[in-house]
Amino acid sequence: MATETTTHRFATQAVHAGAAPDPATGARVQPIYFTNGFVFESTEQAADIFAMRRTGFSYSRGSNPTVAALERRVAALEGAKAAVAVSSGQSAVLLVLMTLMKSGDAYVASSRLFGGSLGLMRRLDGRYDLKPQFAKGLTPADFEAAITPDTKAIICESIVNPCATVMDLEGIAEVARRHNLPLVVDNTLASPALIRPIEHGADIVVHSTSKFLGGAGQTIGGMICDAGRFDWKAAGSRYNLINEPWPDYDGLVITERFPEISFAVACRLFGLRDLGPGLSPMNAFLTLTGIETLPLRMERHCANAKAVAAYLKDHPAVEWVSYPALPGQPGEALAARYVPQGPGSIFTFALKGGEPAAVKFIMSLELISHLVNIGEIKSLAIHPATTTHRQLDDADKRAACVGPEAVRLSVGLENVEDLIADIAQALAQVG
Ligand SMILES: *Cc1c(COP(=O)(O)O)cnc(C)c1O
Repeated sequence: MATETTTHRFATQAVHAGAAPDPATGARVQPIYFTNGFVFESTEQAADIFAMRRTGFSYSRGSNPTVAALERRVAALEGAKAAVAVSSGQSAVLLVLMTLMKSGDAYVASSRLFGGSLGLMRRLDGRYDLKPQFAKGLTPADFEAAITPDTKAIICESIVNPCATVMDLEGIAEVARRHNLPLVVDNTLASPALIRPIEHGADIVVHSTSKFLGGAGQTIGGMICDAGRFDWKAAGSRYNLINEPWPDYDGLVITERFPEISFAVACRLFGLRDLGPGLSPMNAFLTLTGIETLPLRMERHCANAKAVAAYLKDHPAVEWVSYPALPGQPGEALAARYVPQGPGSIFTFALKGGEPAAVKFIMSLELISHLVNIGEIKSLAIHPATTTHRQLDDADKRAACVGPEAVRLSVGLENVEDLIADIAQALAQVG
């Protein structure tokens, strides 16, 4: 489960980390192990694996060799001690919250999160009494002001969907450290090619691998990465799942048996063995293959996004563009500090003609697809106010740059002149 240490650089790890030629056959590509069960050598071995006294495969809900290769690779790219793959990014956020907290607990959350995360948090509050305490703004001081004695964690995104706002991770990590709280960062929009939140003080990193990591828009998946740094033991019974004996595992205390990867082990035992949203080996294979080109793709995603954003900014039909790699944008300094390569390829822009113009623009696109995913090889557009961000009220929509006049783009890897030509013809029809 732990990652091998390696001196290789990022692009090399993206291709090699966590997988090796198959010792049984010599297959160079990671085999897909489509098997639910694994034959035990002895009853002792079976008992030891069940009780977590020794590592090994037993049943693919909890772990599988193809999925484990993906976990090792993402852990290596994030600089984490271990990672746990799950069936979706949504499950990754859910399992992190459920593993850290029990009903009655609270956590400070960024008020600018992926819409699915906000919906999940609302339902967990209403039905399971896990309380989100939303920070009023995006600064570290806003996060600190939201902390109460019930707070068990802080959660934010590295780059915020859909305005490409870059968060001050080091400032927020500093707040988390001061209050002895683990910092959870959803790194989906940056991917480890642009930001490695653990280097900036995060304790737990989550991903929707459905986006840039998989890259091709083929498969849904999620990942939970454990930096192995948070002192769960010092926090005592505040994190009882991680730090108190599990009677059905012969009194296993995770922090004692697995001090370096406690959170990952707790997620595997509670999140996968008990709750069950494991990743299919097929999806793990596709994601693993996608990651091999991640550094190359992110370079092009950022370059294309910057060129498209610059074109839009100068267009007479466009009111504003939210892409902090452009000069004079709010958040420019944070973007320059955390993402010198560029703040990814998902951003919004607004049309002077308001909602009718935004709708007309989207419906006039020919090359760029009208669809809800992000972070794919293909370029995509959507109207967030009526789809992904429809649950926000009007004031929150404007604050999150998803008012009715806004269009979200996820800029892909096509030739950028072709992308700009498609945008130009669609803008011409808006009038
Ligand atoms: C898409 C997304 C998720 C949810 O991931 P799924 O794989 O779609 O379940 C979570 N966080 C962010 C930032 C996302 O963009």
